[in-house]
Amino acid sequence: MRQDLPGICRRCLGRAFAMIGSGTTNIERGNIALTKFENKNQNFEIVEESNCSICSGIFLRLMDYCEQLSLMSKDYEFNSFLIGSRFPEEILKLEEQIQQSIEGSNGESIRKEFNRELGKAFESYSPKSTNFNSPEITFIIDTNFDSIKLQVKSLFIYGTYRKLIRNIPQTRWIKYSEITDSVESIIGNVICPMSSGHEFFLHGAGREDIDVRMLGNGREFVIEITDPHKRTIDLKYAEETINNLGKGVEVHDLSFADKQKVVEVKSERNNKTYVARIRNGDSIFDRKLLERSLESVTGKAIYQRTPLRVAESRSDAIRDRRILEAVLLYVNGSEATVEITAEAGTYIKEFINGDGGRTKGSLSEVYGNNLDVLELDVIKIHRGA
Ligand SMILES: [Zn+2]
Repeated sequence: MRQDLPGICRRCLGRAFAMIGSGTTNIERGNIALTKFENKNQNFEIVEESNCSICSGIFLRLMDYCEQLSLMSKDYEFNSFLIGSRFPEEILKLEEQIQQSIEGSNGESIRKEFNRELGKAFESYSPKSTNFNSPEITFIIDTNFDSIKLQVKSLFIYGTYRKLIRNIPQTRWIKYSEITDSVESIIGNVICPMSSGHEFFLHGAGREDIDVRMLGNGREFVIEITDPHKRTIDLKYAEETINNLGKGVEVHDLSFADKQKVVEVKSERNNKTYVARIRNGDSIFDRKLLERSLESVTGKAIYQRTPLRVAESRSDAIRDRRILEAVLLYVNGSEATVEITAEAGTYIKEFINGDGGRTKGSLSEVYGNNLDVLELDVIKIHRGA
């Protein structure tokens, strides 16, 4: 018997023949393969698993691993998991070389078998089940350093928010560091501790300016909590707690969501209705002229060059947007209140004030004087059909 290759166990031999039917284990495959080698020039020695040059008996220690996984994850609420692993490069190379020399091609990798077998073992050890698509906890076993890392899926909660007072930014921007509250922090500071999470991030379906109120049916958002220890939190209680803070932000329709919902929410392109309090400088509004102006912009496209105030964060471009409806609510001297429905992405302040000529077809241009926006509210986001 030639022994050019280091000793391997039946299991590791079996992986070289992973293509032999399914429904059989690698140890059984190894046994079948051995009969094939009988009376032939076998250039390897079969050894016990614990002496195997590839696996070193790691499959004999699955129960130890299960105990470790269980201990590491004991403070986390989860139902689904996935096993991942890293093996030393030289072991993977040796395995490849042995498989090539025995079968002339590559069989199954030790990583794959280990992940599968430990997964099965942990499923019978604990009440948890494997999930390949979106596991709540991923265990990464690094056999190089005999270390195990835990990756915990974020908790995603969907809802809508209303911002009833001005001067609250949507997220915790450094720019507004003197302002302590944001929509994000008001919601996150309640939900994050409830789930014993680490950090939180608000993903909004667009954003209103800091000085704009968000009324009506509210804006959709998903709040993401990283490293949550609890996943089944009482959302009704969370909603009531946030709404009773009296901080000017309300949430509604909270529900558990997933990462895909973040993508959906962030790609929202709904029309919006605004109410704006505007000013005609020091001049009294000409009611008839204002009404005619609003009528004439209705249904028309306007052309907006990226406003200077947002040019820092967005590239300079000209976008065309349609004003779907514009009506006068009331006039009081040099001030008026108008209701405007516009396509998603319209810079509504600039539609009114003309942005120094950067918006073409503005209300200021049509009315024939520079109109200012004193206050702006979003009163409806037109979701769904
Ligand atoms: Zn082995």
